[in-house]
Formats: sequence, structure tokens, C-alpha cells
Amino acid sequence: MRYVFDPPPRVVVPVQDDDALFPIRRVYCVGRNYAAHVAEMGGDPGRSVPFFFAKPQDAVVHEPATVAYPPATANLHHEVELVVALAGGGRDLTPDEAEAQIYGFAVGVDLTRRDLPAAATNKGRPWTSAKGFDASAPVSRIVPARGDAPGADARMTLAVNGTLRQQARLGDMIWNVPELLAQLSRLFELRPGDLVFTGTPEGVGALERGDRVEATIDGVGTLRFAIA
Ligand code: MN
Repeated sequence: MRYVFDPPPRVVVPVQDDDALFPIRRVYCVGRNYAAHVAEMGGDPGRSVPFFFAKPQDAVVHEPATVAYPPATANLHHEVELVVALAGGGRDLTPDEAEAQIYGFAVGVDLTRRDLPAAATNKGRPWTSAKGFDASAPVSRIVPARGDAPGADARMTLAVNGTLRQQARLGDMIWNVPELLAQLSRLFELRPGDLVFTGTPEGVGALERGDRVEATIDGVGTLRFAIA
């Protein structure tokens, strides 16, 4: 095999207490999965159905010390999210079947150029520029689930410079993880290596250069990085 140029390096995420690396295939994200966040974005939580978008594989950066403030925005937002890592896959899965494909969980931040999705939506344009920019998907190590998912009472928080901005319980999700995966599997064949960002609660807000971000989910871990 000869390539025109060297293939890009494989995107991987380390696994907690294991020297094996988790290789990334695709990165899916769900929108509007916490009622209070739907409301703060001007939507109606009662009519919320999950919708999906994607980030490029190499938007994933694991445990970065810093993330560069991206160009072309004046309103970079944080969205703390539970990230599901799949070791299996399939099409048209039931929630139970989908749950059985889970390898583990990580803490992620869906970084968003908030000034771009509104502009894109108003013009019927895709969200790629708003959501899919370089390093827009920082994640913690993956914690293997070993048949034990973080519970509905697990607390998820995000603080900026030590000030709490977002907090929720995972049970606040409108659509739980197996339901989300089942719905996603009707649109795409899920495969090992897929990551799914499962949505953010209320309290999203702007980040500035120099800000220190700390995102935590009970039983999953903590992700810390600074905006450079
Ligand atoms: Mn999000």
C-alpha cells in the first residue's frame, strides 16, 4: 500500500486504569435533551424530540491542557455533556440492545460558536461551522462501564474559574442514553468507536481566553482545560 501522503494519525482516547486506547470512529451529538436548556435556547421542552448532528473525528482532543479560542466567533460557549463510547453497534436497535453496545463513559464539553448556529439556522444552513471546528470536542479519559452505567442521580457540573455555571443530574435528560442510542441507530449504523455526546443542561455560557474550565460527572471523572 502506498499513500499520496502519510495518513493522518488515528484519533484515540485513553481508558481509565487500562493501557489500551479507545479508537474513535464517529462523533455524534444530540441537541435539546435537557428541558431547562431547551427553554433557555427559546424552545418548547414539551415538544422536544432528539435531533442529531456530528463533529469530525479529529475534533476530539483528550484531556487537553489548553484549547485555543477558535477564530470567527465572538461567543464561544461551553456545554458539559455525558459522552457514551460504543464497543459494538448495529441498526434499528431497541433501547436494551443499544445499551448492550456501550463500552464506557467520559466527560465531554461540546464547544460551540454560539453566534453561528443561530445565523445558520435562520438561513437554513448546516451547523458545521458552529459545532465542528478544530478541538471542539474535548473529552476526559473513558471509564469502562462494565455493565454499570452512571445512575440518574449522578451529578454533572461545569465550573469556569471556580464558579459553578452548569449543574444537573443525568436523570434530567429528556431521552435517556439507551433511548438516544436506539433513535440514532435508526438513522445510522452504529459501530465500535462511535462517541455520542448526550446533550447539555441549562447554564451554557461564554468562555474567554484565560478561562479555566472544570467539568465533572460523578462516577465518570473530571475534565480540566484552559482556553488559550
Ligand atoms: Mn451540545
